[in-house]
Amino acid sequence: MQTGHGDGATPDRATTDEPREKCGVVGVSLADRDAARPVYYALYALQHRGQDSAGIVTHDGFQQHDHVEMGLVGDAFDEADVEALAGSTGIGHVRYPTAGSVDQSCAQPFTVSFNSGSLGLSHNGNLVNADELRDELAGLGHAFTSDGDTEVIAHDLARNLLDGDLLHAVRETMGRIHGSYSLTVMHDDRVLGVRDPRGNRPLVVGELDDGYVLASESAAIDVLDGDLVRDVRPGEAILLDADGTGYESRQLFEVDDTAHCFFEHVYFARPDSVIDGTLVYDARRELGGALWRESGIDTDVVMPVPDSGRAFASGYADAAQADDASVEFAEGLMKNRYVGRTFIMPTQDERERAVRLKLNPIRSTVEGKSVTLIDDSIVRGTTSTQLVELLRDAGAESVHVRIGAPPIVAPCYFGIDMATREELIAADKTTAEIRETVGADSLAYLSVDAVAAALDEVREDLCLGCVTGEYPYDVAGEATDRDVDRPSPTGLAEADD
Ligand code: AMP
Repeated sequence: MQTGHGDGATPDRATTDEPREKCGVVGVSLADRDAARPVYYALYALQHRGQDSAGIVTHDGFQQHDHVEMGLVGDAFDEADVEALAGSTGIGHVRYPTAGSVDQSCAQPFTVSFNSGSLGLSHNGNLVNADELRDELAGLGHAFTSDGDTEVIAHDLARNLLDGDLLHAVRETMGRIHGSYSLTVMHDDRVLGVRDPRGNRPLVVGELDDGYVLASESAAIDVLDGDLVRDVRPGEAILLDADGTGYESRQLFEVDDTAHCFFEHVYFARPDSVIDGTLVYDARRELGGALWRESGIDTDVVMPVPDSGRAFASGYADAAQADDASVEFAEGLMKNRYVGRTFIMPTQDERERAVRLKLNPIRSTVEGKSVTLIDDSIVRGTTSTQLVELLRDAGAESVHVRIGAPPIVAPCYFGIDMATREELIAADKTTAEIRETVGADSLAYLSVDAVAAALDEVREDLCLGCVTGEYPYDVAGEATDRDVDRPSPTGLAEADD
């Protein structure tokens, strides 16, 4: 997707009708069976990464087939749709909902047919120079049907494919696109996966009994009974063999520092996925333990905001008990799983109502107790404010809030649908002011250094833009925390495996 930064405009996201994406991508190549069904199952496993639209593109050796629809995976496809997608190679995509209208023109995979073949493209991430490239390509005669950045990548790739093979074209395009991207690409019957040179968004490769799979998260490999081989390296392309027997690896770009999104570990990814070598569940428990060590308070009970705070609260409780604190882990809030995400409700009033609809206290675990409430993050502050009130109404003696991430002070330009600066409660408030707004007896966030340590990374290798306001890519009007010169391509070297 594009955010309008490339033209030098201030990249402010006050206009919330812009498409904002946080997506999941898949690519599959099999020896001797149709790819559509495994891609479909993998998309189910990645449903949390996007609920706006779902799509699959396959190739049967002669022609491309596609089915892309708005809605959840289960609604976008019926049995006949999956059956109709012939061919043993395929890619898929799930897209995150937008705050405003739903728009089929942004649904993916994006497809292009050109003189020498067909192309399908699934993108997770966000370019910062899409407008610039769109203008340039439009000037060369390319006709665009959406204002998304995925179409820009697709047209650029199609152009580069006129003078070379897929790896050559991907390398050329990578030299031109700037920002975050994990892509699965299908050129005729070849499937390729690539991660941007700083590896902002996750992408893994896995092995099946009869083929190979690329996916945003390893949970998608698990549902196919496959084995995780490894993360795709930042700047690396993995080209799956068309017959499902193996893959080629090419390190197309190299940079000294990575920019892994810490928020994938904190909130976005599934706890059962392994990202950049770490099980997300373990990372969240580590973060919870660090939270205890930094700002623990020995209340009667510690309880998670379900489901996002659960692993944090269990890590916090274990670390507390290891320190001989008497705090006990308790589930004090019940979640109605049929209510959608409160975050994407269009008005504040609806968001408040939705939190109440979604979570109900279990009075007996709260009444007369001092409570520590743990969540992964505070964005607008709606959830915490409502829950503190709810717990007090249920008889809590005191409510202390602990958050497993630092205050979110700035927007995300690289693919997480966060909020605009105006909406972020921590953008212009101190922690003391937020505590007052939220109505808690005490409030503490985790420090940036503790996040890096818990994720076993140095700060310089993480994208911490939303909590520091300094970004690892050059966003017009925003500060950077490193040398953001564009990386140069390597020779088409083969990466070690
Ligand atoms: P808020 O009520 O706006 O403070 O949002 C905080 C809640 O939203 C927490 O429970 C988070 O788990 C969740 N959350 C954090 N980031 C996101 C996001 N990008 N999309 C949807 N929900 C989120």
